[in-house]
Amino acid sequence: MEFLIASNNKNKIEEFNRILSPLGISAVSANEMGLSLDDVEETGNSFEENAVIKAKAACKKSGMICIADDSGLMIDALDGRPGIYSARYAGENATDEDKINKVLGEMVDVPDGQRGAKFVCVICCEFPNGEEIIVRGECKGTIGFASRGEGGFGYDPIFFTDDNVTFAELTPSRKDAISHRGRALRLLSEELIKKYK
Ligand code: IMP
Repeated sequence: MEFLIASNNKNKIEEFNRILSPLGISAVSANEMGLSLDDVEETGNSFEENAVIKAKAACKKSGMICIADDSGLMIDALDGRPGIYSARYAGENATDEDKINKVLGEMVDVPDGQRGAKFVCVICCEFPNGEEIIVRGECKGTIGFASRGEGGFGYDPIFFTDDNVTFAELTPSRKDAISHRGRALRLLSEELIKKYK
Protein backbone atom coordinates (compact mmCIF):
# COMPACT_ATOMS: atom_id res chain seq x y z
CA MET A 1 0.00 0.00 0.00
CA GLU A 2 1.26 3.48 -0.86
CA PHE A 3 0.66 6.68 1.11
CA LEU A 4 1.46 10.09 -0.34
CA ILE A 5 3.44 12.40 1.94
CA ALA A 6 2.39 15.99 1.23
CA SER A 7 5.98 17.25 1.34
CA ASN A 8 9.19 17.11 -0.67
CA ASN A 9 11.41 17.31 2.41
CA LYS A 10 13.77 14.30 2.13
CA ASN A 11 14.25 14.06 5.92
CA LYS A 12 10.52 13.95 6.53
CA ILE A 13 9.92 11.28 3.84
CA GLU A 14 12.67 9.13 5.39
CA GLU A 15 11.22 9.57 8.90
CA PHE A 16 7.74 8.63 7.68
CA ASN A 17 9.14 5.59 5.82
CA ARG A 18 10.94 4.34 8.96
CA ILE A 19 7.64 4.29 10.83
CA LEU A 20 5.33 3.17 8.02
CA SER A 21 7.39 0.43 6.33
CA PRO A 22 6.97 -2.09 9.20
CA LEU A 23 3.22 -1.71 8.59
CA GLY A 24 3.63 -2.66 4.91
CA ILE A 25 3.09 0.94 3.82
CA SER A 26 5.49 2.85 1.60
CA ALA A 27 5.68 6.63 1.66
CA VAL A 28 6.02 8.44 -1.65
CA SER A 29 6.66 12.16 -2.02
CA ALA A 30 4.60 14.66 -4.00
CA ASN A 31 7.52 15.01 -6.45
CA GLU A 32 7.67 11.27 -7.05
CA MET A 33 3.97 11.36 -7.97
CA GLY A 34 4.56 14.35 -10.28
CA LEU A 35 2.25 16.39 -8.07
CA SER A 36 2.78 20.06 -7.26
CA LEU A 37 1.51 21.34 -3.93
CA ASP A 38 3.05 24.80 -4.37
CA ASP A 39 -0.38 26.40 -4.66
CA VAL A 40 -1.54 25.06 -1.27
CA GLU A 41 -1.49 27.97 1.20
CA GLU A 42 -1.12 27.35 4.92
CA THR A 43 -3.84 29.76 5.97
CA GLY A 44 -4.84 28.00 9.21
CA ASN A 45 -4.56 29.47 12.72
CA SER A 46 -3.21 26.32 14.33
CA PHE A 47 -0.88 23.40 13.59
CA GLU A 48 -3.99 21.20 13.30
CA GLU A 49 -5.70 23.44 10.75
CA ASN A 50 -2.58 23.68 8.59
CA ALA A 51 -1.91 19.92 8.65
CA VAL A 52 -5.53 19.25 7.63
CA ILE A 53 -5.41 21.89 4.83
CA LYS A 54 -2.27 20.27 3.37
CA ALA A 55 -3.48 16.66 3.71
CA LYS A 56 -6.94 17.39 2.25
CA ALA A 57 -5.50 19.30 -0.74
CA ALA A 58 -3.02 16.50 -1.53
CA CYS A 59 -5.74 13.85 -1.16
CA LYS A 60 -8.08 15.73 -3.50
CA LYS A 61 -5.36 16.17 -6.13
CA SER A 62 -4.06 12.60 -6.02
CA GLY A 63 -6.96 10.40 -4.89
CA MET A 64 -4.44 8.68 -2.59
CA ILE A 65 -4.29 8.33 1.20
CA CYS A 66 -2.25 11.41 2.18
CA ILE A 67 -0.21 12.42 5.18
CA ALA A 68 0.78 15.99 6.01
CA ASP A 69 2.43 17.46 9.07
CA ASP A 70 2.83 20.90 10.52
CA SER A 71 5.34 21.66 13.23
CA GLY A 72 7.05 24.45 15.08
CA LEU A 73 8.56 25.83 18.27
CA MET A 74 6.44 27.52 20.97
CA ILE A 75 8.34 29.63 23.50
CA ASP A 76 6.64 30.53 26.82
CA ALA A 77 8.33 33.92 27.24
CA LEU A 78 7.31 34.90 23.68
CA ASP A 79 3.63 34.02 24.22
CA GLY A 80 3.99 30.88 22.10
CA ARG A 81 5.89 32.45 19.19
CA PRO A 82 7.24 31.55 16.66
CA GLY A 83 4.55 28.81 16.70
CA ILE A 84 2.91 28.20 13.33
CA TYR A 85 5.22 30.86 11.84
CA SER A 86 8.41 28.95 12.80
CA ALA A 87 9.53 28.26 9.21
CA ARG A 88 9.38 31.92 8.14
CA TYR A 89 9.98 33.68 11.46
CA ALA A 90 12.85 35.81 10.12
CA GLY A 91 11.36 36.31 6.65
CA GLU A 92 10.82 34.25 3.52
CA ASN A 93 14.45 33.53 2.54
CA ALA A 94 16.02 33.62 5.99
CA THR A 95 18.47 30.89 7.05
CA ASP A 96 18.16 28.75 10.19
CA GLU A 97 20.88 30.95 11.71
CA ASP A 98 18.79 34.09 11.01
CA LYS A 99 15.77 32.53 12.75
CA ILE A 100 17.85 31.46 15.74
CA ASN A 101 19.38 34.94 16.03
CA LYS A 102 15.95 36.55 15.95
CA VAL A 103 14.70 34.30 18.75
CA LEU A 104 17.86 34.79 20.87
CA GLY A 105 17.60 38.56 20.34
CA GLU A 106 14.01 38.60 21.56
CA MET A 107 15.04 36.61 24.63
CA VAL A 108 18.18 38.46 25.78
CA ASP A 109 16.45 39.72 28.91
CA VAL A 110 14.64 36.48 29.76
CA PRO A 111 16.38 34.92 32.79
CA ASP A 112 17.21 31.27 33.39
CA GLY A 113 14.15 29.54 34.80
CA GLN A 114 11.79 31.44 32.47
CA ARG A 115 13.10 30.05 29.19
CA GLY A 116 10.69 27.13 28.81
CA ALA A 117 9.55 26.04 25.33
CA LYS A 118 8.10 23.11 23.45
CA PHE A 119 8.28 21.68 19.96
CA VAL A 120 4.91 20.63 18.52
CA CYS A 121 4.14 18.37 15.56
CA VAL A 122 0.64 17.63 14.28
CA ILE A 123 0.13 14.98 11.61
CA CYS A 124 -3.05 14.54 9.59
CA CYS A 125 -3.71 11.36 7.60
CA GLU A 126 -6.54 11.96 5.14
CA PHE A 127 -8.40 9.13 3.40
CA PRO A 128 -10.21 9.59 0.05
CA ASN A 129 -13.53 8.67 1.74
CA GLY A 130 -13.20 11.70 4.06
CA GLU A 131 -11.95 9.76 7.08
CA GLU A 132 -9.19 11.52 9.00
CA ILE A 133 -6.63 10.61 11.65
CA ILE A 134 -5.07 13.57 13.52
CA VAL A 135 -2.27 13.09 16.06
CA ARG A 136 -0.17 15.57 18.04
CA GLY A 137 3.28 15.07 19.56
CA GLU A 138 5.03 17.53 21.90
CA CYS A 139 8.50 17.75 23.42
CA LYS A 140 9.31 20.13 26.28
CA GLY A 141 12.67 21.83 26.76
CA THR A 142 14.35 25.18 27.35
CA ILE A 143 15.91 27.80 25.08
CA GLY A 144 19.64 28.36 25.60
CA PHE A 145 21.57 31.64 25.44
CA ALA A 146 23.66 30.53 22.43
CA SER A 147 23.73 27.77 19.80
CA ARG A 148 25.35 24.43 20.57
CA GLY A 149 25.82 21.32 18.38
CA GLU A 150 26.19 20.60 14.67
CA GLY A 151 23.38 18.13 13.91
CA GLY A 152 19.69 18.51 13.16
CA PHE A 153 18.07 21.54 11.54
CA GLY A 154 15.97 24.60 12.32
CA TYR A 155 15.98 25.61 15.99
CA ASP A 156 17.73 22.40 17.16
CA PRO A 157 20.97 24.13 18.33
CA ILE A 158 19.15 26.32 20.90
CA PHE A 159 16.64 23.73 22.16
CA PHE A 160 17.89 22.06 25.35
CA THR A 161 16.41 18.79 26.57
CA ASP A 162 16.12 17.82 30.24
CA ASP A 163 19.57 16.17 29.96
CA ASN A 164 21.14 19.57 29.22
CA VAL A 165 22.06 18.69 25.63
CA THR A 166 20.58 20.39 22.57
CA PHE A 167 18.61 18.59 19.85
CA ALA A 168 21.59 19.41 17.59
CA GLU A 169 23.84 17.28 19.83
CA LEU A 170 21.66 14.16 19.63
CA THR A 171 22.01 11.31 17.11
CA PRO A 172 18.98 11.05 14.75
CA SER A 173 17.70 7.95 16.54
CA ARG A 174 18.04 9.60 19.99
CA LYS A 175 16.17 12.63 18.66
CA ASP A 176 13.45 10.37 17.14
CA ALA A 177 12.98 8.71 20.54
CA ILE A 178 12.00 11.94 22.33
CA SER A 179 11.08 14.47 19.64
CA HIS A 180 7.65 15.90 18.89
CA ARG A 181 7.75 14.36 15.39
CA GLY A 182 8.86 10.95 16.67
CA ARG A 183 6.04 10.99 19.23
CA ALA A 184 3.41 12.03 16.67
CA LEU A 185 4.64 9.38 14.22
CA ARG A 186 4.40 6.64 16.83
CA LEU A 187 0.84 7.74 17.68
CA LEU A 188 -0.03 7.67 13.97
CA SER A 189 1.46 4.21 13.68
CA GLU A 190 -0.69 2.99 16.61
CA GLU A 191 -3.83 4.43 14.97
CA LEU A 192 -3.01 2.80 11.62
CA ILE A 193 -2.35 -0.57 13.27
CA LYS A 194 -5.79 -0.35 14.94
CA LYS A 195 -7.39 0.54 11.61
CA TYR A 196 -5.76 -2.18 9.51
CA LYS A 197 -5.46 -5.10 11.93
P1 IMP B 1 7.02 22.90 8.68
O1 IMP B 1 6.47 21.90 9.63
O2 IMP B 1 7.65 22.27 7.47
O3 IMP B 1 6.02 23.96 8.36
O4 IMP B 1 8.26 23.65 9.37
C1 IMP B 1 8.19 24.09 10.68
C2 IMP B 1 9.45 24.83 11.11
O5 IMP B 1 9.54 24.64 12.51
C3 IMP B 1 10.76 24.34 10.51
O6 IMP B 1 11.13 25.05 9.39
C4 IMP B 1 11.74 24.59 11.67
O7 IMP B 1 12.18 25.93 11.64
C5 IMP B 1 10.86 24.39 12.90
N1 IMP B 1 10.97 23.00 13.36
C6 IMP B 1 10.03 22.02 13.27
N2 IMP B 1 10.49 20.87 13.77
C7 IMP B 1 11.76 21.11 14.17
C8 IMP B 1 12.77 20.30 14.74
O8 IMP B 1 12.63 19.08 14.97
N3 IMP B 1 13.93 20.92 15.02
C9 IMP B 1 14.16 22.23 14.77
N4 IMP B 1 13.27 23.03 14.21
C10 IMP B 1 12.06 22.47 13.91
